[in-house]
Amino acid sequence: MPIANLILFAAEAVGYFTIMVTLLHFRHRIGLGVFLTALGVMHFMETYLAAVFYVQLPFGVVSPGSSIFFAGKLMMILMLYLEEDAAVVRQPIYGLFLGNILTVGVAWILQLHEAIEPVPGKAADVNFLKEMGWLMVWGTALLYIDSLGIILLYERLGRVIQRWLVLRFMISGLVLLTFDQIGFFMALRYFVGVPTEVFWGGWKAKMIAVCIYTLLFAIYHFYIRRHGATLSQRSISDVFDDLTFRERYNDLLARTGRDMLTGAFDRSRMELEAPQLIRESLRKGAPISVLILDADHFKDVNDRFGHLQGDEVLKAIAARLGQMLRSGDRLFRFGGEEFVIVSPGTGHYDGLLLAERLRWAIASSVNNPDGTMVSVSIGVASAGDDGASFAAVLAVADSRLYEAKKNGRNCVFGHAGRVQAV
Ligand code: GH3
Ligand code: MG
Ligand code: MG
Repeated sequence: MPIANLILFAAEAVGYFTIMVTLLHFRHRIGLGVFLTALGVMHFMETYLAAVFYVQLPFGVVSPGSSIFFAGKLMMILMLYLEEDAAVVRQPIYGLFLGNILTVGVAWILQLHEAIEPVPGKAADVNFLKEMGWLMVWGTALLYIDSLGIILLYERLGRVIQRWLVLRFMISGLVLLTFDQIGFFMALRYFVGVPTEVFWGGWKAKMIAVCIYTLLFAIYHFYIRRHGATLSQRSISDVFDDLTFRERYNDLLARTGRDMLTGAFDRSRMELEAPQLIRESLRKGAPISVLILDADHFKDVNDRFGHLQGDEVLKAIAARLGQMLRSGDRLFRFGGEEFVIVSPGTGHYDGLLLAERLRWAIASSVNNPDGTMVSVSIGVASAGDDGASFAAVLAVADSRLYEAKKNGRNCVFGHAGRVQAV
């Protein structure tokens, strides 16, 4: 009998997973609402089964409601996150939570009615509804934490074993469902007084369910997602990308906000990031300097060699700057042949040294097509003495750049005027 139960148990897990993944897979064709509604509608039954429906398996007493359907739902939430993003995952979680609170509220109001029994002996069991309602509120509160946990853990594991999606899926499931089992069991014990052996039986069953789900996930991931015919309207390489949302987002961020010609960050990125860097440094009491750099007589370069050659010189300047900077420094193309460097942790004196090294590096290693030297002028200002916002500091740096231009170019100007070559 326990063996028959075990076979049924496995069949339920496979059935649940297959149907739900099918709905998820075809969401672009049939709408994501189908998947989400199915996920939500099963919740009442899961909770009901978890409270009262238990079967004997070879290793203990188990509730399929909790071990298959609730565990399955959590894995579905992780899959939804992998296919979509956090903003989409939020919807079923908040929906379930609010819906369950509504259930408790409705049960509470209904009991105020004086009800009649159209069929004698078949009165509504409002107490049951309320009890189930609270259990469901607790279950979804846990689901909320579980979902956050499983997504965060999956992402964390990505730092260590990025390519091992299936292993990440499995470990996340095992850990979070162990946590969940502890939390849900406490409530079950409180509301319906289930015995302790149910905890262990339920835990083992959840672990087995995760293994089954992982196996199915692997099959889905490697065979169906990759090779399966799709009804999706998005391209295969897009929907079936290995990247998770955050990875995709980071990838996108890394590629956008870059200036096409030089590869430096562009001005919009500067306006987004530089003020944050300044604010952060001021908050921590750490120094930070801003350098603005402008190529000297660049119009002449264009006039003499043409714009395309001018572009090559600009690229060479940016490349040389990029090589010289530390990883924490940010290089932005401010416009034309002007660059802005934001250097956290660098005080004014160090900022001048950095500027001087950059000036020298350009002058000594970047050349015009005819081999003549390319030079730049640099203005340096630092947060604190020169201002408390990026805009203010940049304005001061810019006025020093102007001084540098007035004073013969190919030089650095800071707080105390011209910096002598070191
Ligand atoms: P100064 O020493 O005073 O800076 O002289 P300048 O000739 O460099 O003067 P300014 O900075 O005002 O002029 C910038 C010139 O840079 C104007 C434009 O011809 C050139 N320029 C700006 N952006 C680009 C670009 O993307 N490619 C090329 N080839 N030239 C550019
Ligand atoms: Mg200029
Ligand atoms: Mg210039």
